[in-house]
Amino acid sequence: MIVEMKTGASKDAVDTVVQRAKSLGFNIQLNRGTDKVVVAILGSNTGQVATDIFAVLPEVESVTRIMKPYKLASREFMGRDSIVSVNGIEIGGKCVVIMAGPCAVESEKQLMEAARAVKKAGASVLRGGAFKPRTSPFSFQGLEEAGLKLLEKARKQIGMPVITEVVDPHEVDLVAGSSDILQIGSRNMQNYALLTEVGKSRRPTVLKRGFSCTITEWLTAADYILAEGNDQVILCERGIRTFEDSTRFSLDISAIPVLKRSSHLPVIVDPSHAAGHFALVPAMARAAIAAGADGLLIEVHPNPKEALVDGLQSLTPSDFSRLMVELRAIASSIGRYI
Ligand code: PEP
Ligand code: MN
Repeated sequence: MIVEMKTGASKDAVDTVVQRAKSLGFNIQLNRGTDKVVVAILGSNTGQVATDIFAVLPEVESVTRIMKPYKLASREFMGRDSIVSVNGIEIGGKCVVIMAGPCAVESEKQLMEAARAVKKAGASVLRGGAFKPRTSPFSFQGLEEAGLKLLEKARKQIGMPVITEVVDPHEVDLVAGSSDILQIGSRNMQNYALLTEVGKSRRPTVLKRGFSCTITEWLTAADYILAEGNDQVILCERGIRTFEDSTRFSLDISAIPVLKRSSHLPVIVDPSHAAGHFALVPAMARAAIAAGADGLLIEVHPNPKEALVDGLQSLTPSDFSRLMVELRAIASSIGRYI
């Protein structure tokens, strides 16, 4: 249930609503806008309580039941767009933020070369997996803690914030210690223990879409992070399973405008895992920005032929820098910039 206070409502009036909700055993989340306060009343049985209980309280403008399963991620909860700030980089504002780097951290040389190249081309965040959630237990699982150390080194030497994936709820603090943005991968979108721990960390978090999940399931998963008080959530469309097998996954471009209508969270797109092939990545990256994405997550490897993971879908540094020129043109044509 969402209680919207009147413009300029007093602190006492807001407290009255909060106390009433708490006395009924509900949790609350407050959203203080510039001139309005909105109180989200959360609990599995809010549906059993009449909205009048809150509507009669002083300085309450309206009380709305949220029929959608997601609440905190919804537009109803927050009318304005959320902006996630990472070291002064704003994700969700006018700037389209490009995150790029190798699928997996493989060696110091590989990571530093990739970092230098993507920074030179204009990327503002370095990606690189240290813990890799591989479909097969026999595939390369990442350099793990040694990979985190290399990411720390690249962050310091190249001067770029770092995004890397966390796969285990017990490793959230460890991974957060070496990175600026936590990534929850497609396979873990509904790992609720992991979502809760990442929520507690209050770190900027990219939540990738589960490849067999609906947008509603995705936003409801985002609520797990938001409910812990972490409002720094960025959604990442990375392709879904369909009957089509000429690409690795089907990039759901329509998810971008759908999310923009139903949620206040920033939306980025990973064209690399959707395409599965370097030749298809540029067109999908261009389409994502044209459709309103707030950023991209792109795999770039200094030598894709030698990559231990996802070489076929990785761009070379020169392909990436050519793509960046095109992306800038598209961003500026829709009043944004890179
Ligand atoms: C990744 O970005 O490193 C990755 C594994 O992607 P996804 O979780 O989307 O498969
Ligand atoms: Mn990959």
